[in-house]
Order: sequence, then structure tokens, then C-alpha cells
Amino acid sequence: MKQSYDYIIIGGGSAGCVLANRLSCDPSCSVLVLEAGRPDYIWDVFIHMPAGLTFPLGNRFYDWCYESEPEPFMHQRRIFHGRGKVLGGSSSINGMIYIRGNAMDYEKWAEQPGMEQWDYAHTLPYFIRSENRLKGPDQYHDTKGPLILESGPCKNPLFQAFLESAQQAGYPLTNDVNGYQQEGFGIFDRNIHRGRRLSAARAYLHPVLKQRPNLDLVCRALTTKITFNGKKATGVAFVKGRGSRPRTVRAGEVICCGGAINSPQILQLSGVGNAAELSALEIPVVHDLPGVGENLQDHLEVYVQYASKKPVSMNPSLKWWKKPFIGYKWLFHRSGAAATNHFEAGGFIRSNQDVDYPNIQFHFLPLAIRYDGSRPSQDHGYQVHVGPMYSNAVGSVKITSADPRKHPALRFNYLSTEQDRREWVEAVRCARKIMNQPAFKEFNAGETSPGNHIQTDDDILDWVAKDAETALHPSCTCKMGTDAMAVVDPSSMKVHGVENLRVVDASVMPFVTNGNIYAPTMMVAEKACDLILGNTPEPPSTAPFFRYEKKQTALSMPLKKAGASI
Ligand SMILES: Cc1cc2nc3c(=O)[nH]c(=O)nc-3n(C[C@H](O)[C@H](O)[C@H](O)COP(=O)(O)OP(=O)(O)OC[C@H]3O[C@@H](n4cnc5c(N)ncnc54)[C@H](O)[C@@H]3O)c2cc1C
Repeated sequence: MKQSYDYIIIGGGSAGCVLANRLSCDPSCSVLVLEAGRPDYIWDVFIHMPAGLTFPLGNRFYDWCYESEPEPFMHQRRIFHGRGKVLGGSSSINGMIYIRGNAMDYEKWAEQPGMEQWDYAHTLPYFIRSENRLKGPDQYHDTKGPLILESGPCKNPLFQAFLESAQQAGYPLTNDVNGYQQEGFGIFDRNIHRGRRLSAARAYLHPVLKQRPNLDLVCRALTTKITFNGKKATGVAFVKGRGSRPRTVRAGEVICCGGAINSPQILQLSGVGNAAELSALEIPVVHDLPGVGENLQDHLEVYVQYASKKPVSMNPSLKWWKKPFIGYKWLFHRSGAAATNHFEAGGFIRSNQDVDYPNIQFHFLPLAIRYDGSRPSQDHGYQVHVGPMYSNAVGSVKITSADPRKHPALRFNYLSTEQDRREWVEAVRCARKIMNQPAFKEFNAGETSPGNHIQTDDDILDWVAKDAETALHPSCTCKMGTDAMAVVDPSSMKVHGVENLRVVDASVMPFVTNGNIYAPTMMVAEKACDLILGNTPEPPSTAPFFRYEKKQTALSMPLKKAGASI
């Protein structure tokens, strides 16, 4: 490791790996990546085996293991929040589902002051640049990027029942939720290639790390703060291992890629944030920037579960005596139950006539189990994950101490708004409507969760408050924009009011997108690279996108045979 670099990237996570690759392309430019977690060792099956995804979650060797403050509208529950603490960051422990969000999300971003260049036309080329979609190129996809995308095989008969029942409930199929039309139900793309997880580290970092002498990586290196000379960032201080002495490295520029929880934490620890709150913690203020850590957004989800009459679910693969065989098939053939994330299909709907584009997402799983692998049903079952996508409940990430190891206070305020509560009731009712269509008749042995005793709006909301978990999409805590609460300049990714410091990760989104947020984070990182390097931006796309016209109803859309065009 050198004493000084052109760029220091804090966090070798999803966005950090993109930046490491693109910024080190120029051999004259030196780049250091500091990652707090351990390497993503090649032998680590819990990272690389797709179905191993439940193991790292909640495990301190891979996960920061955050917990919210007691949530006031959820019976004071503390909600567990996993975040990847390993090379590749959350992309090394996530569910591998690849969803870009709705085109209208980016149209909404672009309505914010200063965000004109972040509309769908200007962001689509960066999604395309990042991807290698094995189904082949079209107006919305290409095959030249590092992120290999394959579609789920959807061989289990429960997937076909799900896609058919969604149509019977009046919703359309869509042949590509990341293409012209997100709205509807279909097969999801995922970051799995040849039976292995394709994390950001595997896609972007490892292919170049050994070949580029100008790119250095240090794992188990916790950045404790960004150093400043006046308002100019000069480098970072970090510790490598507990009890070791802090070291400093100089940087031409510091780029914070710590994610939606850690980036605001690092800025606050470094004196960039709400001046009054920092002073109360005796942290010297570098710049008063009240938006740091505010505007926290996330997706909350529940599992609506059913017992299956037929023995077709993935339940047997959970039996201990099946595991050696499943492990053998994965290890030697990269196939079988361990080679998939099982989230192979889902959909997006509008739950009411007031919204302009889908506000509810479904993921279907041919298994009844919680996301972290706990509480599997004893017999065959299946479930749908459901929740609102752009709730107006917002929260905050605030440090409570100058100690960088102390977790910040996370407040999400789930269920705190009228809109959120309304959409929650609608989401659960829509899920039940879909799951009780004729297509499921041969499988449906009854709802096991929440169960038929949960019927009124109040019952549903109470169950959600007691049972819901995060869908693990915290974002928006260092939002781009030019208003008083904005943290990052949308035209340069520079932190307002200071020099030589940028933020690039899920924290810069102004609004959480409609769907899982890994793909949008990677798009942000790709676009940020052009802004940082001063490259000519990708020309805006002219590809059209589906806009719902209010006179048209979902019910009037033609039915397609499930699987016919997907
Ligand atoms: C369990 C789980 C499942 C998910 N499933 C999906 C899914 O299926 N599909 C999807 O689209 N999204 C999913 N997500 C969300 C998605 O993966 C993340 O939102 C996205 O990867 C965030 O990218 P990021 O670059 O902002 O942060 P991260 O990828 O989390 O990277 C941040 C990195 O910074 C490092 N870091 C933090 N602080 C410091 C410090 N002080 N010093 C040094 N390093 C530091 C971290 O260790 C980490 O490696 C999931 C997330 C989780 C946790």
C-alpha cells in the first residue's frame, strides 16, 4: 500500500467495486479500496452458492447486523437489518434478484431540482452498460457489460400456477420487468451465472485486481473518518483489526461507497452533517449539512403463506439428509436446488386507481419460510412476499457517539403515514386475491400465515406491525439534489460544501425505486464514473416505456398463457 492515492474508495461493496474497476482503467491513476469486511474467499460456499443466501444474514462474519430503534408504529419492535460486511458488500449476501425499478421512478427523480439528467432516458444507457443479459440484446439490454444476468428457470409447477393465477386475478403478464413494461407478472432476472452468485466483486473487481498495479485493495480495514484540511478532504484514517493503531492515507479524492447506513455514518463521524447534532457529540464540525442521514427510505415486506396439498414445494431440500446430495450436485455440477436463489418469478401491480405506476411488488417462493431461513413449514408450502414500493414514510440514520464501531441509530418510521397504511391493507388483500384463484386450486391447502382469522383492515395492519420484516433496501440518506436537504451534487457526485469528497452508493438516491435496489445502485455507480472522470456522457435513450393510462384497466388487458411469451 502506498502513502497517497489519486482516489480512495471507502467500501468495496456493490458501488465500490464498479468504481474500483472504472477509475483504475487509466493506468496513470492510482486507486485504493478500503473494505471493512473480509475477502470473499473462493472456497466460501455461503457466498458463492446461491441457495446459501440465508447463512450470511445475521452472521457477524459477513453482516454488519444492524437493528433499528424501536419502531413506534410496529409495537416498538426493533427491526433487524442485514448489510454485507465482506468484499462485494451487500451484493455478496443479497438475494441476487435483478430489478431496475420502474421507468417512472427515474422520471420522478428528474423532477427534483438539479436532477434533470437522471430521468429514464439518461439512466437507461447506464443500466445497459453494466449488463450482459444472456437472453440477448434489444433496445433495453446489451450483452457487453460485466453483470451477467440470467432468467430464473421457473421449472417448479408452483411458478406456473402463480403466473396463471395472477392473470386470473386480472393482472397482465410482462415478458421483461426490466424492459418496456415493468407492470405485470413474469420471470425475474438474477445475478447468478453457471450456478454461482455473481456479486459486484466477482463481476467488476476480481477480473482486474491482479492485472492492474495501480489498483490496491485492503480488506478488514475499517475507515474511521475522512481527514480534512479546512473544507478540503485530504485522505482517510482507518484501522486494520481490533486494537491496531489508526493509519492515515492521503488521497486526491475520497469517494464514500459505504452504503445507505455507513456512508452517512462516516460523513457524520468526519464532521459533515447537522452541525448542532455533531456538536452535541463533541465532533468538530467541518461543514453543516443537515441532510446527511435524513430521508431514509426502505421496503417492508410480509410473507403470505399457504400449505400445499401436493408434494411439489422445495420443502424436502431443507431436510438434513438431503443436504449432502444437494451439496454434491452444486459442487461438482453447479446444478440442483443449491444453484438457484428460488426467487424466480414475481410481479408489480397498482393496488389502487390513484397511483400512476405499480406501487406493490410480489416475489413468489415455492417454499414457506422466512427470509433468514428460520421457521420453515414442516410440510409442503409456498408463499408470496409482498409490500408497498414507494411508501412516503421516511426516517433517519444518526450517529450517537464519536466511536466508529458504535452502530448508528436507525429510525425507519414504517407504517407511520396514511398512504403507507392504506397500501399495506391493499397489498395483503391483493396477495390473497391472487393466491386464491383457480390456478392454485390443486395446490391450495389453506392459508397458514397470517391465517383466515386476520380479515379487517385493523387486523391486517396489526399483523403487519407484528410480523413484517425489512426487504433490506435502505437508501436515500445522502440524497442527490440541490435543495437545502440535498447532500450530493447530481452533476458530479460531490458532497455539497466540501472539496475532494464524493458519495456513490444506494444512499444518493432521492427516492427508493420500485423493486429491489441492487440494479439501480449499479446504474448510479456506472453513471457516477462518467461524471467523476469527466467522460462524455452516454447519449440519452429513445426507448419508449409503458405508461398506464387511467381509462385503461388492468382487467381489460388480454390474457396470455402463462409462460407463452416469457
Ligand atoms: C440480505 C440482503 C438481501 C438483498 N437482496 C437483494 C436482492 O435480491 N436484489 C436486490 O436488488 N437488492 C437486494 N438487496 C439490496 C442490495 O444488495 C443493496 O441495496 C445494494 O447492494 C447496496 O449497495 P451499496 O453499494 O450501496 O452498499 P454495499 O453493497 O452494502 O457496500 C458497502 C460496503 O462498504 C463497506 N463499508 C461500510 N462502512 C465501511 C467503513 N467504515 N470502512 C470500510 N468499509 C466500509 C461495507 O462493508 C460494504 O462492503 C439485499 C440486501 C441484503 C443485505
